[in-house]
Amino acid sequence: MSRPGKVRKTEVHTENPFTNMQKQCDICAALLNLPADIHEIIRNPMRELHVSIPVRMDDGTLNVFKGFRVQYNDVLGPTKGGIRFHPNETIDTIRALAGWMTWKCSLLDLPLGGAKGGIICNPREMSAGELERLSRGYVEKIWQLIGPDKDIPAPDVYTNPQIMTWMMDEYSRITGKNQFGVITGKPVAVGGSVGRDIATARGGLYVIEEAARTYGMDLRKSTLAIQGYGNVGFNLAYLADDIFGSTIVAVNDQSGGIYKKEGLNPLEVFYHKKKTGSVAGFPGSEPISNEDLFSLDADILCPSALENVITGDNASSIKARVVAELANGPITPEADDILFEKGVQVLPDFLCNAGGVTVSYLEMVQNFSMYYWDEAEVFERLKKQLTTAYHSVLNSSEKHKVNLRKAAYMVAVKRIAETMLLRGWV
Ligand code: GLU
Repeated sequence: MSRPGKVRKTEVHTENPFTNMQKQCDICAALLNLPADIHEIIRNPMRELHVSIPVRMDDGTLNVFKGFRVQYNDVLGPTKGGIRFHPNETIDTIRALAGWMTWKCSLLDLPLGGAKGGIICNPREMSAGELERLSRGYVEKIWQLIGPDKDIPAPDVYTNPQIMTWMMDEYSRITGKNQFGVITGKPVAVGGSVGRDIATARGGLYVIEEAARTYGMDLRKSTLAIQGYGNVGFNLAYLADDIFGSTIVAVNDQSGGIYKKEGLNPLEVFYHKKKTGSVAGFPGSEPISNEDLFSLDADILCPSALENVITGDNASSIKARVVAELANGPITPEADDILFEKGVQVLPDFLCNAGGVTVSYLEMVQNFSMYYWDEAEVFERLKKQLTTAYHSVLNSSEKHKVNLRKAAYMVAVKRIAETMLLRGWV
């Protein structure tokens, strides 16, 4: 008997992320004057797999979960991208995310294409045993399609290093040899890279640091409002406070938000969430709604959770000077235009959250060579890769007089188009 997860109202998607991604892609094709054949190929995924995964639940019933893996484009190399476990997962969200992974890998100059996977499930309501059986069952259904030189999954929303380990172990078991390189975001003990766990947040901060320099902002005196307090949101708050001394004025999660004018202590908020399940009710803070967090007068707003949270309905209320998209696809195209007119600088997702895949790539390199680097080496490479990408986006934006998202698309899609021509695909 199927037992669908609880649907939380705030997370229901009101727009189709795949249509939005295609819209962004069409705008870019026009700006680049892209040959029609190339445009036609890159607006759709090259391959997708839909699977049903039977899992024996702890109470003895059988639950059949639906899962997907979308490989968007592999002209630059094996496809790469995370796996999400989410009750509201849809194939169109996965398609959009796989497309964004393609642009992200291209923009970061990685020798990788883009992919994404997802399973419709509610991990918050599942035991560790059920999650392990689901993770192994998913690999059993998709293993022919993945591999260290084909398609390399990674963590994403509600998946973590333990889930990556079960998946890697299952793939190794099926193929009869240790294959650490089939998946990234693993714990260090099983071929993970040091620094991968905080890489998305750290990468985002490198981009924010460069942007602050461009806009003449002093991060020590800047205030941040962060939507989402999972791996990315928490690490971003912690590192911004620790490295720059920025003030974290507000954070939230699915169950509520908190505000403190003088600044929250990110680590204490983390422990509070660990104990109570939410940041809400953190001692010494005031409650704040999701909408009020978005419209706060903070210098930098960081959507760090899910897609489609800044839309035509709330974009005009945003007062932040910079929006750093740590999540994938948090701003709809309509909202993008409103923010651009208001003069709000948007640091686009596939630049701002590319730290994760960049260290995933470094993890792959270490797996292939069986030689492992220390943290300083990993972060030096991460910083170089992200600051180079930021400046190529900034240059493209100045040259073509377009916003940073359009500029990022132009850099990423140009590289993909040139490689398609070179390989004789069109
Ligand atoms: N899920 C992350 C992203 O959206 C990381 C992907 C990866 O490491 O392959 O970029």
